[in-house]
Amino acid sequence: MEIKALVFKDKQLKLTERPQPVPGEDEVLIQVKLAGICNTDLEIMDGYLGFEGIPGHEFVGRVIYDPEAEFTGQRVVGSINISCYECFTCNQGLSNHCLNMRALGIRNKDGAFAEYLTLPRENIYPLPEVVTDKMAVFIEPMAAAVEIPEKVHLRPTDEVVVLGDGKLGLLTAQVFWAMGFDVKVIGKHQEKLQIVKKLGIETFLPGELNRMVDVVVECTGSQSGVETALKIVRPEGKIVLKTTTVEKPSLDLSQVAVNEIKIIGSRCGPFAPTLRLLERHKFPLEEMIDSIFPLERGLAAFTRAKEKGVLKVLLEIS
Ligand SMILES: [Zn+2]
Ligand SMILES: [Zn+2]
Repeated sequence: MEIKALVFKDKQLKLTERPQPVPGEDEVLIQVKLAGICNTDLEIMDGYLGFEGIPGHEFVGRVIYDPEAEFTGQRVVGSINISCYECFTCNQGLSNHCLNMRALGIRNKDGAFAEYLTLPRENIYPLPEVVTDKMAVFIEPMAAAVEIPEKVHLRPTDEVVVLGDGKLGLLTAQVFWAMGFDVKVIGKHQEKLQIVKKLGIETFLPGELNRMVDVVVECTGSQSGVETALKIVRPEGKIVLKTTTVEKPSLDLSQVAVNEIKIIGSRCGPFAPTLRLLERHKFPLEEMIDSIFPLERGLAAFTRAKEKGVLKVLLEIS
């Protein structure tokens, strides 16, 4: 059977037909319902990681086939990393940094911008009814924020500033808010800051916050963001880098040494606790959706997602 898919090949994204993917051993077959376009997908279009195939890693779908039958018929989300469990880092218990890592729609594994995808059973998380498709499609980037306290010790009393009011910044602020932190956001766009302001999160325009804070989470992915982080983090404070950037910022590392700043990188995160947060809190996620396109208009969706300042663009697939 042929399925419709967006395929990135020879530096071009095309809507085309592909054979339906066949689940490997211990894999489930999922019919994709809704998928989100993320900045990583836009970077893939610019050649990030040299990926070719079907992109897309933020999705909600329904399990069509499960060899164990446990998930069959269930509405699910799926974590994106697939480790080999055989290499050196996997054997060290660091399977999150598997040397042969495959990642859904990012590295050596076809992704979610297609009618069907396959994933290992261990990556699958059934969705509680209260978590709608439009909420669940945000779980992957939210999980990346949930991961931060796993990477660096944060005190519950820490004052946290999130830099950036793009998708990742707004989601990270909401997660810290739900975890009980005193969190603030610095961004350039009042209308976007408004989304988190409704939760009671204090927001600032660049330059408005003129004092030091305990923790800064850099979500702008820009040189100026890293500079701002170094400017407002207190001595012995912590900077968390969340974004992957194409440009390589130059850093004043003497300030890191003199002020004994900790800089920590953090990438993907755990789905189970993130699902619990989604179940327990009313996040204003739907306000972060800019537009929804059918898969057939996938190229137009990418054009829209690339426009400056646009929040989440979704693909409705089935
Ligand atoms: Zn993403
Ligand atoms: Zn491995």
